[in-house]
Amino acid sequence: MATIPWLVDVLRGAGVQVVVEGDWLNRMRPGSFDPIGVLWHHTASTSSATNPHPALNICINGRPDLAGPLCQALVDYHGVFHVISAGRCNHAGASGGSGPIPAGDGNTMLIGWEIDYNGVNQEMTAAQYAASVAATAAVLTRLGRDASYARGHRETSTTGKIDPSFIDLNVMRADVAAKMGGAPAWSSIVDNATAGRFTASASWGVSSFSGQRYGADYRYADPVAASDPAWYRFNVPAAGNYRVDAWWPANAGYNSAAPYIIATTTGNRTVSVDQRATGGQWRTLGTFALPAGDANRVAVSRWTTAAGLVIADAVRLTRV
Ligand SMILES: [Zn+2]
Repeated sequence: MATIPWLVDVLRGAGVQVVVEGDWLNRMRPGSFDPIGVLWHHTASTSSATNPHPALNICINGRPDLAGPLCQALVDYHGVFHVISAGRCNHAGASGGSGPIPAGDGNTMLIGWEIDYNGVNQEMTAAQYAASVAATAAVLTRLGRDASYARGHRETSTTGKIDPSFIDLNVMRADVAAKMGGAPAWSSIVDNATAGRFTASASWGVSSFSGQRYGADYRYADPVAASDPAWYRFNVPAAGNYRVDAWWPANAGYNSAAPYIIATTTGNRTVSVDQRATGGQWRTLGTFALPAGDANRVAVSRWTTAAGLVIADAVRLTRV
């Protein structure tokens, strides 16, 4: 995909107010553009009801150190989307990897909203937030991606960006998911970097070697005749059936039979997977009956006779 000429129609179809800014179909940076997600920013400009889009000119034309356009759309104080570009823009810089967005060229992979507020002593307006959620849901639906493909610049940045300030990006994704699917099933992801929800011994090293990783890094360990499991803790909302998915980066040097252990209502179940293949995506381990409560629920064990490093990256539970 070289451009997204459908953007204006998709936004209007979602009930978002749109102002088309000039020759948006032909205003873009040279280079590749094949978007898989949406990135939220704030402009760091102070907007108001009487000056609703102070950063619009810079977003269209750029600044001395960075050529425009600087985003596909600017979201003004009133929640109006000013559509600037149908192609590649200088908004994301390098991605360090965040959720399902891999490390790489952020301007190739991401459509950017510059939400016009200063982010220091001014929050996003309610109108900006509502329009940005609606727009993100509509664009991700068009791209065939789920809400996890909505990210904030502070999540993907490799240079310490802080935008967008004053919002919880997990709540943002939940709001986008709700907009996309009505009432979504409960789902939760625990990554090896999720605070308080992942535990592994020091025998598990940390690596960011594979670009197929979920988030910034993952854990690895040699197989041994002892479990020494890496545990994923989930707060399961109610007893019921849950689909368990795992994400690992694949490599010829990884384990051909890595054991995942699921602690079900009727005891532990083990599912072995080949981590030499099908990396960089969610793979379903099965559907299991789980009890309610906050506990270690899924593990990756080192106890396998198969060769290759055992990998522990991310696990997702979804109520079915
Ligand atoms: Zn930004």
